[in-house]
Amino acid sequence: MARRILAAGNWKMNKTPSETKALIAEMAPAVASDEVDVLLCVPAIDIPAAVEAAKGTNIAIGGENLYFEESGAYTGEISAEMLVDAGATYVIMGHSERRDYFGETDEDVNKKVIKALEHNLVPVMCCGESLTQREQGITMDWIRQQVKIGLLNVSAEDVKKVVIAYEPIWAIGTGKTATADQAEEVCKGIRDLLRELYGDAVAEEVRVLYGGSVNPGNAAELFAKEDIDGGLVGGASLKTSFGEIVNYNK
Ligand code: PGA
Repeated sequence: MARRILAAGNWKMNKTPSETKALIAEMAPAVASDEVDVLLCVPAIDIPAAVEAAKGTNIAIGGENLYFEESGAYTGEISAEMLVDAGATYVIMGHSERRDYFGETDEDVNKKVIKALEHNLVPVMCCGESLTQREQGITMDWIRQQVKIGLLNVSAEDVKKVVIAYEPIWAIGTGKTATADQAEEVCKGIRDLLRELYGDAVAEEVRVLYGGSVNPGNAAELFAKEDIDGGLVGGASLKTSFGEIVNYNK
């Protein structure tokens, strides 16, 4: 079965609930598609407004983070159950911004993947190397470690539901996109690792996205690559022209 392309937005810390409502209403016609899955991951406080605004459209709503405990004394955190109850169906973990600014480790990412799966939330698990790591030639070692630990104790059945997003840190928010070949090389490396861990059939089903300055001008070339099954899009998902990324092949 061919993997469906997923165009996923990551709004980061942008848009209030009222702005969310307005932007999704404006964006919905532009992102309509029968062929591509569309997802907007928004700040937790925006989720109810986003879910409401996306009703009757093809837009799925996701969170940008969750905590790996079920509930309890974790001031300021958001649980998987809360995300689900609010109408989210996906959740991001392991984004480089959370790793760098909030100390998220590979072990945390793993616990978050497992907690999300327990609640039927699709995990969007991010990985990516720094410029130094790329220059030192250790990109694939680093990515393999992030992915291998992130998926620890995740069964073959469950891993098929996971989305892996490869986001080179040097390409995030910098306007510096990895070339389609550079992106494909790592996404293929991730699929090779999935093959080692879970076998061919499972590896063929897992969606691997590229993220880092994806825009309407480069989406088609990136998404055409064999092992790239869509994009995790930051800045360009905050505009109605996100529709041009969704409809990259039109
Ligand atoms: P960008 O962000 O598209 O603005 O580079 C991507 C991301 O961080 O997910």
